[in-house]
Amino acid sequence: MTTQINRGRSHVDLHLHSTASDGTTSPSGVVELAASTALQTIALTDHDSAAGIAEARAAGSRLGVEVIAGIEMSTSVERGELHMLGYFIDPANSTLSERLEQFRDSRERRAETMVERLQAAGVPITLERVLAFGAGGAIGRPHVARALVEAGQATSVSDAFDRYLVPGRVGYVPHFRLTPAAAIELIHAANGVAVLAHPYSTGAVEAVVAELVAAGLDGLEVFYSLYNDDQQAFLAMLAGHHDLVPTGGSDFHGTGEREGHEIGSANVPDDTVDRLRHVAAERR
Ligand code: AMP
Ligand code: ZN
Ligand code: FE
Ligand code: FE
Repeated sequence: MTTQINRGRSHVDLHLHSTASDGTTSPSGVVELAASTALQTIALTDHDSAAGIAEARAAGSRLGVEVIAGIEMSTSVERGELHMLGYFIDPANSTLSERLEQFRDSRERRAETMVERLQAAGVPITLERVLAFGAGGAIGRPHVARALVEAGQATSVSDAFDRYLVPGRVGYVPHFRLTPAAAIELIHAANGVAVLAHPYSTGAVEAVVAELVAAGLDGLEVFYSLYNDDQQAFLAMLAGHHDLVPTGGSDFHGTGEREGHEIGSANVPDDTVDRLRHVAAERR
């Protein structure tokens, strides 16, 4: 099946974050924005958390927006990080939810370590403020970044990343090590469909995809807002070659939070949802 690149108005956005992880909008707020942008189907894909899904679903049935239960899992590879999206997951699956609980704990300990290292380097920041920005959700570097901005140590979230939170900087602490294959396995255990997020983030995209296909990968995030037509066409070709479902989304983290990541800004074809649903049904 060939995939057309089409930059028209999209009705689908399958990559959205809320306050259940590092977004700034509540799960129901994300669905309200989706409805007001004329989106028909969305997936909530918080980092290592399914805690926002019930609220998003309730808002979706009120507002006539289909909400797919999703997740974005952080995994470690030799050259850095790789993010794995899961769609149509069962949020109540015990194998998945026990692991997510571990990841949330490990994210909280990682935040503690980040704050300790920053404090030891003379940067005035408190764990209390980081956790307050986290609002009870999965804690990540963006929450540390917001606390750094508040403390006057950076001019913006991305400035805080550049100064303190990327590999090689004093506040950087790596994630708990989960392999991409283990993430695929967890997503499958919860009846979900596993999709590689923003495939150009990891580098060596063809080799990485071939390896993940051997581990059971189901889809590739082709229609990512930041990717240009040539990049999307290449990824669509790669997806076709490996018989992967091409998906897409904006990676929205809140209104005005990240340039180029506005909700609904990805050109996701309408038939994507049915193709994903088909793979999910085959898996059951
Ligand atoms: P974490 O899961 O704690 O490692 O944080 C990952 C989050 O940080 C993701 O949402 C990324 O989009 C975001 N992020 C990574 N690098 C940057 C950056 N340079 N500026 C702003 N956000 C970033
Ligand atoms: Zn994020
Ligand atoms: Fe990601
Ligand atoms: Fe994301």
